[in-house]
This record gives sequence, structure tokens and C-alpha cells, in this order.
Amino acid sequence: MSKLLIVGTVAFDAIETPFGKTDKILGGAGTYIGLSAAQFNVDSAIVSVVGDDFPAEYLDLFQKNNINTEGIEIVKGGKTFFWKGRYHNDLNTRDTIDTQLNVLADFKPVVPEAYKGAEIVVLGNLHPLVQLNVLKQTKNPKLVILDTMNFWMDNALDDLLKVVAKVDVITINDEEARQLSGEYSLVKAARKIQEMGPEYVVIKKGEHGALLFKEEQIFFAPALPLEEVFDPTGAGDTFAGGFAGYLAGTKDISFENMKNAIIYGSNLASFCVEKFGTEQMQELDRKQVQQRLEEFKKLTKFDIEVD
Ligand code: AMP
Repeated sequence: MSKLLIVGTVAFDAIETPFGKTDKILGGAGTYIGLSAAQFNVDSAIVSVVGDDFPAEYLDLFQKNNINTEGIEIVKGGKTFFWKGRYHNDLNTRDTIDTQLNVLADFKPVVPEAYKGAEIVVLGNLHPLVQLNVLKQTKNPKLVILDTMNFWMDNALDDLLKVVAKVDVITINDEEARQLSGEYSLVKAARKIQEMGPEYVVIKKGEHGALLFKEEQIFFAPALPLEEVFDPTGAGDTFAGGFAGYLAGTKDISFENMKNAIIYGSNLASFCVEKFGTEQMQELDRKQVQQRLEEFKKLTKFDIEVD
């Protein structure tokens, strides 16, 4: 079985959408990536940090999903990273109301011995220096996937560029791709980002799907048009987790297989947004995912003859 190493926040989130609000619930980029990758036949581990206010039942949830938690440090007397966000009526834009780094402020990641040789590494959204530190502890991964956000472009650009230079794949959203590259056209933006290091660039466009770029080749995966989007939190991380999990599960990191991987990423993200937080990802089974794949196929299949 392929090994998948994930670094990312394991957090408490408080979320407000036009449909309701939650108190502190399970969140964090590492959490969403892990739960999404758990849909595949992979042996994964999360490297992160929490305080001793983090409920043991959440760690049990990871273990039940075949996610190794040895690399999740529990700081005695410490408080878990907390993020609070409020979505606007369009559900595409949100304001961060509060970010409390807490134990994350002094986090020194330690990759468990058994995962140093993981075939695939996902550097989830975190300080780029933490991402670099994790990368240094790994031994020749076949594929390194970086997910990041505008927060790090604004606050730690030099360090972020060092990580970008070392990865094979970057997944970012359209606005972030524009910010990182200084190009409005996503095709030009992807080209510029490729020049910074990654061979593959995945640009997530939320409800408008995702684009995969490799040199001059482009592939597009739609997002499933949903009747109701309840809470978009974690959609990007779930996408990245599905992408990485599929590649690890199939042990094939070719461009052709990456096309399937972004379809899986979109598929899993469509489940994530249908309920608050990780609720839907916790109870999702493979049958539901397979059924939705059929919908993805129908959505894009047409048979025009090209003369
Ligand atoms: P997404 O909706 O994909 O941007 O991911 C949302 C998740 O990212 C939430 O569960 C938060 O806990 C986490 N998060 C928010 N801000 C940060 C940050 N600055 N660094 C790392 N993780 C964050």
C-alpha cells in the first residue's frame, strides 16, 4: 500500500454561513486532506499539532479512517489552532473573523520514522517554513504536492517561493494564482508558476471546477452543479486530499492519471460543501463517491464528430 504523508492544520473552526453557524467544530487543512484521502486504499499520516483541549474522539476518528496520528503532537496546557470565518451570501467569498495560532506558533514538525519514505507528500496550508521542515525530513518522495493560500503570499512570500521551487505540483485557487504570478490570464499565470518550480499546476476555481496544467497541456475538471451548497469550508483541502489520495491509491503519477485525480478531487469536494465542516466527509462511503462519478461522466460526455 502506498504511503501518503500530510502536513497541515488540525483545528477548531467556527463557521457562519447564510444558513447557520457553528461553535468550535473539527476543522483544519490537514483534517480535510486526511479525511478525503481516506476514501482510497492508502496508508496515510498527518503531521500537525494540537493542544490538550483537542478531544480524543477526533483522534479516534482519524485512526478509524486509517490515518496515523503519531505525528500529531499534543501540547500539554496548550490551545488548539482556532479559525473563525463568515461567508457572504454568494458563498464564494468569506471574511476571516479570527485566527488564533495558539500551539501552531511554535510548531516544530516531526515526521514519524515510518512515513519519512512516503511516496507522496502533501504540504497542506501552513507556514512555508513548516512545510520546508517537513520536506527536509522526507526521503526521496515520488511526488510532492503543495497547497497554499494568499495569507502566506502576503506574509511570508520569500519562504513560500522557496517551497514552490521544491515541489512537483501546486494546487491554488484562481485569485491566488493571479496574485502569485502577477498575471490575470490563468493560462499565463500557470506558465509563470511552472517557471517557479512545479511541473504541474492545478488551479481551483470553486464552483467552476479546476484546471490542470503541464507544459502546454491543459485538462479541465468541472465542479458538480449542486442544488445546495451549505458550507464551502475545506473544499480546497478536500480537493487536494482526493487528488493525492487517488494518485497514491493507484500508484500512478502520470499526467493521464492526474486527470482522473482532479475529477476525484472535484467529486469529493462536492460532498464536503453539502454539510457543515467535516460532517459529510466523516460519513461518506465509497458507493456514494462512485455514483457521483457517473454524474461527472454524464456532465462532460458529448459525441460531436470532429471533421
Ligand atoms: P479552505 O476552506 O480550503 O481554505 O480551508 C479551511 C481550513 O483552513 C479551515 O478548517 C481552517 O482551520 C484552516 N485555516 C484557516 N486559516 C488558516 C491559516 N492561516 N493557516 C492554516 N490553516 C488555516
